[in-house]
Amino acid sequence: MRLGLTDTIAAVSTAPGESGIGIIRISGEDSFLIADKVLDRKISDKETHTIHFRHAVKEGRVLDEVLVSVMRAPRSYTGENTAEINCHGGTLVVQQVLEEVLRAGARLAEPGELTKRAFLNGKKDLSQAEAVMDVIQAKNRLALEAAEQQLSGGLSAEIRSLRDAILDETAWIEAALDDPEHYDLSGYPEELKGKLTGLTGRIEKLIRNADSGIVIKEGIRTVILGRPNAGKSSLMNLIAGTDRAIVTDIAGTTRDTLTEHIRLSGLSLNLTDTAGIRDTSDPVEKLGVEKARQAAEQADLILCVIDGSEPVTEEEWKLLDSTRSRKAIVLLNKSDLEQKVTEEELRKRTDHPVILFSAKEKKGMDELEKCIRELFFSGEISINEQICVTSTRHKEALEKALASLRMVGKSIEEGMPEDFFSIDLQDAYETLGVITGETVEDDVIARIFERFCTGK
Ligand code: GDP
Repeated sequence: MRLGLTDTIAAVSTAPGESGIGIIRISGEDSFLIADKVLDRKISDKETHTIHFRHAVKEGRVLDEVLVSVMRAPRSYTGENTAEINCHGGTLVVQQVLEEVLRAGARLAEPGELTKRAFLNGKKDLSQAEAVMDVIQAKNRLALEAAEQQLSGGLSAEIRSLRDAILDETAWIEAALDDPEHYDLSGYPEELKGKLTGLTGRIEKLIRNADSGIVIKEGIRTVILGRPNAGKSSLMNLIAGTDRAIVTDIAGTTRDTLTEHIRLSGLSLNLTDTAGIRDTSDPVEKLGVEKARQAAEQADLILCVIDGSEPVTEEEWKLLDSTRSRKAIVLLNKSDLEQKVTEEELRKRTDHPVILFSAKEKKGMDELEKCIRELFFSGEISINEQICVTSTRHKEALEKALASLRMVGKSIEEGMPEDFFSIDLQDAYETLGVITGETVEDDVIARIFERFCTGK
């Protein structure tokens, strides 16, 4: 066992508030003895994976009738002796039983500490432990599928296989350099070059998928831009299905930015409505316009709303030009009114998809959804057939490992001696280990588990 795993910890693992049951999880060497102290009859002599009806008591007074599960190490979530007390799910009753458990010798668990123990005890690697929180926090079906896949070890297996392959090469080089009589390095650089192509290809694929994966998990940061009165707030409300943004016919009413998390056929959008972009002398509106431009700079997707019932202004053309190198969709809104602009005119001025839209008549939504899918996932999105990287931390490690492997390739090209290969191979090996947690620093581990909820 590793450091910091000696005491027994406890926490309420169910959400606060009134519910059917509330579960107190106790984990650590003394879990069963501690549970005994708060129960009317002991459970410490019971077999693993059994459930027992008991009363939780305080100084002889019954607090609640409970069911207690016994899971003996290593066959538990944390890998330690674990007792789970299922109480009735009232805030007060759960709190009182927890207090008794703490009085009996357990320490209150920090957020994420139970999962951290699962990681430290080798029940899960780091990417699997991170996936636990992703499962809990998944905001759309695809994010959940990706998290479940990571939890079941999909990413871990690929990383392990890449690391094994890299380790084989370093081991071979080291052996050959130590014992030149029995190992022949002639022709080896060419052979290694071939293997590197395979390895870098696999890492590149993971990195490519990461962009979709992160967007699936975090949501597509989407900003609505357009001049005042073009129908931005109406579009926001239509997509969000609520009256979140203020819709009025007075130009310049949305002066701040509003963000909504929206689910759109399995995907998430973090949709931001902005102040209309126009030249203005009103200082408050000016600030709003500036915020809109900033939001657009950070966005993954820009929805440009153009009012088709009015001629396109110079400002709007400028706005379209400013989105040239970005992922953007042009919505030609108010198509229910007489049109002063045609799709063709717009298509001539922009390479972005143009959709004939009416926020009022809810026209164009299907096409908008289709367009978003095509822009981000080249059409169909499916998690199951590919390993999906959904974390920036993992993506950064993959990029670093890729750079190290490319350095090996460069050393081969330049005819460098073999020990040069081995240094960069070793770097790639170490960096990949950051994903699964074999080579990660303690502060990174601490930061990962800090974002967990209590009782997990
Ligand atoms: P914003 O300033 O860009 O946020 O524009 P709003 O969403 O507040 O809309 C401005 C006005 O245009 C409101 O009176 C809306 O009802 C109207 N409007 C928005 N979309 C449409 C549309 O597709 N067709 C018609 N006829 N009116 C619309």
